[in-house]
Parts: sequence; structure tokens; C-alpha cells
Amino acid sequence: MAKNDDNLLKKIVSHSKEYGFIFPSSEIYDGLAATYDYGQNGVELKNNIKQYWWKAMVQMNENIVGIDSAIFMHPTTWKASGHVDAFNDPLIDNKDSKKRYRADVLVEDHIAKIEGKIAKEVAKAAKRFGDAFNEDEFVSTNGRVVGYKEKIAAIEKRMQAAIDTQNYADFKALIEDLDIFCPVSGSKNWTDVRQFNLMFSTELGSVAGDASTIYLRPETAQGIFVNYLNVQKSGRMKLPFGIAQIGKAFRNEIIARQFIFRMREFEQMEMQFFVKPGDELDWYEKWKEKRMKWHKALGLGDNSYRFHDHLNLAHYANAAADIEYDFPMGFKELEGIHSRTDFDLTAHENHSGKKLQFFDPQENKNYVPYVVETSIGLDRMFLAVLSAAYNEETLEDGSERVVLNIPPALAPTKVAVLPLTKKDGLPEKARELINKLKFDFTAQYDEKDAIGKRYRRQDAIGTPFCVTIDHQTLEDNTVTIRNRDSMEQVRVPMEEVRTTLEKGTSLTDLLRKN
Ligand code: ATP
Repeated sequence: MAKNDDNLLKKIVSHSKEYGFIFPSSEIYDGLAATYDYGQNGVELKNNIKQYWWKAMVQMNENIVGIDSAIFMHPTTWKASGHVDAFNDPLIDNKDSKKRYRADVLVEDHIAKIEGKIAKEVAKAAKRFGDAFNEDEFVSTNGRVVGYKEKIAAIEKRMQAAIDTQNYADFKALIEDLDIFCPVSGSKNWTDVRQFNLMFSTELGSVAGDASTIYLRPETAQGIFVNYLNVQKSGRMKLPFGIAQIGKAFRNEIIARQFIFRMREFEQMEMQFFVKPGDELDWYEKWKEKRMKWHKALGLGDNSYRFHDHLNLAHYANAAADIEYDFPMGFKELEGIHSRTDFDLTAHENHSGKKLQFFDPQENKNYVPYVVETSIGLDRMFLAVLSAAYNEETLEDGSERVVLNIPPALAPTKVAVLPLTKKDGLPEKARELINKLKFDFTAQYDEKDAIGKRYRRQDAIGTPFCVTIDHQTLEDNTVTIRNRDSMEQVRVPMEEVRTTLEKGTSLTDLLRKN
């Protein structure tokens, strides 16, 4: 389908629901914003994506192992990682436009306006005084500029005090005193300021209070960092080595829309690769290349991917890039690759008092390893596959079909076995075949409706092969195999069905392209 099609996302949403891929969560109660359930076909596709990642990342790399850490972690984990402090945004809503803003950003924008006025005064004076102009002297003596600077200092001081003492009433009063209005509605009709942390918190046990507050993890990575030493020691791992995991993460996203692209409960597939300090940028480049290859091997279209290198790096990173995918809403982040230095392990050392180091026998010394991370959202990957796969086709006879051209190795159902009629022993023959295949391939049996209608149903869920059992089958044990993409049908001996499926849906072949 053409990308940037406004309707494409809508079509995918309704197709996903109609065909058992994705349902809005608790839909009978009108759903819950930004949470979704995976249906009978969705869970198969999701599991296949996980398997493709797990095999490529863990089982095919002798120096990468997997773990499955708990969602709940000791609260200090999130203090050390910076999430308790850095995930905190003071938010305010404008009641008329219903737009939500970060309160500190509104105030900072206001300060920027005053700074603009200072810059104007400076420019005017520079023009007036020419070569004799001394900017430092001017800004420290000019009455108007000094006034502006005092104003800025007072605003900053008041805002900082409001943040430090959590006096959000004064934060709101500051916004009102500064006459800050909503750029959308133009009004000053504000709600109270509320502190908003992207982490979900809950109470451990029955005792309320700060000491028992724990968080739902906002990323899976910290479960890896806190287990660094356990894995390194128990697995006798030598640098460089990696630890991978797939699991749920939770973020109380402020703006949660665009279907499964941004959810409040989602799944991540993350790998932390521990390296010798100094080697990290080489490994960063290698992982960028390897991860892009993993994506492109799927054949969703090489032009659908691009790197976006970060120019503004987080304070702990010395290189970072996103792999962006051309979603129906345009190019957006699908995966992040970050060189995180020794930030996380050192922070956990400092907060736990435990050494998280590696003894390098060559250097004969201990050091904290550096880390290169690859982090991909499983649900975003699901959406990438689905948006590439969804196709509406007009056939030669003028009829239309919706087909999901899902890479066959990832398809939820690999084969449908269809008896041409419900009688004459054809259903029994079909079931006989399914009973042989079901150990190795996800197979569906369908006898309802005309054969053409049944093909369409399988096209709509992306089944790569349909096998039809007809009267001739009873005579010579041959069947027809229909290919989803070409719609070609060939008659082959029943024994060849397995070979066709093995060749046509092989995960091994996909992994070989990595
Ligand atoms: P964004 O800028 O889109 O919010 P991020 O930079 O916060 O993403 P990371 O913290 O790097 O994301 O998380 C790694 C990956 O996890 C992302 O590349 C994305 O695929 C996935 N991810 C992050 N937040 C969500 C979410 N709310 N819903 C679904 N997937 C998500």
C-alpha cells in the first residue's frame, strides 16, 4: 500500500480487529486508552517476531545470553537509573483548548521572550555605539536590561523553589502572574499544575507510604544491568558479551495515540552488549549494521528504513541512533541503538555499594564495562510488519481482495487445509493431513463456504499456503497448493506438501540472510 495514506492506519486498525489480530483492551467497557489486546492471530505473529529476534540475537551469537527478569524491581533501581528524577514533568492543562503543556516549558518560553528583549536592546546599543560598544558593560549597567535580567532571575528562583518544595499552587500562580496564555486557545484558563512521572507506581504489600512505593518498569534494560554480575559470573562470560531480554514495559505516556505505536503497556526486546572501554564506538557501528540487516532480511522494503543519528545526546551517551521505519504516519522510531558508556553500571555501583566490574586478565585490572544497547519495541515491529503487509488488490476478474503479505516465516498460520466439499470422505482426508503437519506448522482446517471465499479468509490473515483436498485426491493422493502472493495453484502429490511448507515458510532461511 502507498505510505502516508491517511486511511491506511484506519484500515489496519479495523482489519486487525475484524481478523483477530488486535482488539482494544477491555472493549466491552469501551476500552482503555492506549492499551490493546492481541487476538488469536496477533499472538501468533507476535510470538514469531519474538522468535526471529531471539534466535538472531541470542541463540545465534555464542557471546549473547538471555534472561527474563521481574517487572517489579527494588525502588532504588529507578533512583540510580535516573527515572525517578528525570521522568518527572510538571504538567498543566488549558481548560479551553484541552491542550496539555509542561509547566516548566511554558515558563521557560516566557523567559526566552524576555531574553529576546534583552538581545534587541543589545543590538540597538551596538548599532548606536559602533566600535566603542562594550557589551559586558552595557548589560550590567543599562537600566532596562538590568531590569529584564532581574525579572528573569526572580522568575527562575520562584520556579525552582516551587519545584524543590513541590509547591505546585505557586507554580500555577507564577504562570498566572506572568500572564502566560495558551498558544492555541489564547486563554489563561489553566488547571492546577500536577507532577507527572511517566512511571506507574503502586504499593508493595499492605503498608502505604513512600518506603513501600514500587514502580512498573519503564524499560527492560535495568533488569539486565542489575543482573550483570550474576550472569557474568555464573556464565563465566568474557568481554565482549551481551545479555538480552524480551518483556513488558510500562509508561504513563501523556500523548498516547497512533494505535500500537505508543502504548502505556508495551513490550520491548532489548540487548545490552558489555565491552571494554574504548571499544564501544566500534561495537556501536557493528550493532547499527547488524540490526539494520535483521530488519531488511524481512523484505518489507529497503527504502522503508533509515537511520536517524542523534545530535543532542543524553548526558550518559557518546553515540545514539534510531532505526526509523516508514509507518503509515511517516518515518518514526522503531528501534534505538545507544552507546551508553558506563553510566548505568556505575550508577548502580554507587547506589548499591556493590562492585559491578570485570576483571580483565590481559590488562590485569578491574574496570566497569561500557555498554552498547539495542532496544526495539515489539509492538512497533508488529505495526511495521502489518503496515508493509496490508494490501488491497484488484484481480483480473475485477474482484477485490485484501491480502496480508506477511513474510511467510512470521505468518500466524502457515497452511490452511480445505476439503472441497463437506462429504465423500474429503474432510477426513483433510484432517489426516493436518494431523501430520500440525507438529511442525500452524495449520487451520476450514470447510465452510465456497472455496473462493475460504481463500479470501486465509489471504486476509496472511496464510502463505492453502491446500485443497478434492475428489481426485481420493483417487491419486494429489492435492492443489495455492500460493497466497501469486495465487498460483499447482497439483502435487500429498507428500510434497511438507517440502513446499518447509521451503516456503522457513525461519532458518530468513536467519541465514542476517
Ligand atoms: P519515543 O521517542 O517514540 O517515545 P523513546 O525514545 O522514549 O521513544 P526508548 O526509551 O528508546 O524510546 O525505547 C526503546 C524502544 O521502545 C523504542 O524504539 C520503541 O520501539 C519502544 N517504545 C518506547 N515507548 C513506547 C510506547 N509507549 N509504546 C510502544 N513502544 C514503545
